[in-house]
Amino acid sequence: MTDPLRTGATIGILGGGQLGRMLSVAASRLGFKCHIFEPGAAPPASQVADITTCAPYEDTAALQSFARSVDVVTYEFENIPTSALDCVEAIVPIRPGREALRVSQDRLTEKTFLQDLGLTVAPFSDVTDAASLDAALQRIGAPAILKTRRFGYDGKGQARIMARENAASALADMSGQPSILEGFVNFSHEVSVIAARSSDGAVACFDPGENVHKDGILRTTQVPARLSGAQRTDAVLLAGKILNALDYVGVMGVELFVTPQGLVVNEIAPRVHNSGHWTQNGCMVDQFEQHIRAVAGWPLGDGTRHCDIVMENLIGDDMDRVPDLARDGTAALHLYGKAEVKPGRKMGHVNRVVQS
Ligand code: AMP
Repeated sequence: MTDPLRTGATIGILGGGQLGRMLSVAASRLGFKCHIFEPGAAPPASQVADITTCAPYEDTAALQSFARSVDVVTYEFENIPTSALDCVEAIVPIRPGREALRVSQDRLTEKTFLQDLGLTVAPFSDVTDAASLDAALQRIGAPAILKTRRFGYDGKGQARIMARENAASALADMSGQPSILEGFVNFSHEVSVIAARSSDGAVACFDPGENVHKDGILRTTQVPARLSGAQRTDAVLLAGKILNALDYVGVMGVELFVTPQGLVVNEIAPRVHNSGHWTQNGCMVDQFEQHIRAVAGWPLGDGTRHCDIVMENLIGDDMDRVPDLARDGTAALHLYGKAEVKPGRKMGHVNRVVQS
């Protein structure tokens, strides 16, 4: 696929959660159709997309007919089984490409890749058993964080080791999965860069946002982030370096720790990112449209921030506040259409312009 997609073309999206839903809305604004592939029943994205296939990632026939019905495939989460990607890629291009997925699916591969690029990451060590954890703790010291190498999100699959006595219980928390020990980074705050790269190699970054997490889940993103001019430049340059190294096409979230010694890269997400939702009300072209433009082979749009914004996630019972939020005409509500409210479940978000 080298020519830009014509309006009316169909974009396939692996995953039908809120990110797939907001990608579908953006695609539809540009005249594209979307076909969602999602194992779960009644995914939020199916309410706005043209077609949905509900089938497991092991269903080769369903994946093949999905792939044949679309012009390009993208995804809203990184943990898609390799076999499903192989099956799709034999028929239609996947953007962002496989290398970004390979690198970001495994924390050890990811950290090694970032370090090899010359970027600063927390000290890390591969952990497979009690002996390797002991050796890692000898080298890195406590406090440290033990994380499963794969399938961790929103703080899941992580255990803090405040002192070496906690090592055994932290290891038990990993349930035998291959893990990585990370030295604890003493950061003042967390920021992220939402960066985009087009198929011709142009890179554009949204203004970095400052993120506050609670119980491992993103609560708020505020723009502008507290960063010096030099830190802002560093953040954007390192994101561009990552995208170029992966020959990346699409939007990526790059999460960073701010320390007195400089920026430390925490992790990368090869997709649109929760900490980029502020762009929907703070920019002419938001992260979702930017991603669709990139995967469609279009030029990137103008993501310049035109106001100060606070994005707040609506999680679980926060949905009870929706009637009040709806009465507040200055609160831009984005609800995901999820039928069931569960503790810790992301149900929507609200963007507010703040006076600087
Ligand atoms: P992660 O799933 O790796 O993004 O981790 C979730 C959250 O845990 C991060 O947003 C940080 O607040 C915290 N965290 C993760 N890794 C570290 C680290 N090496 N040092 C300090 N805090 C961390």
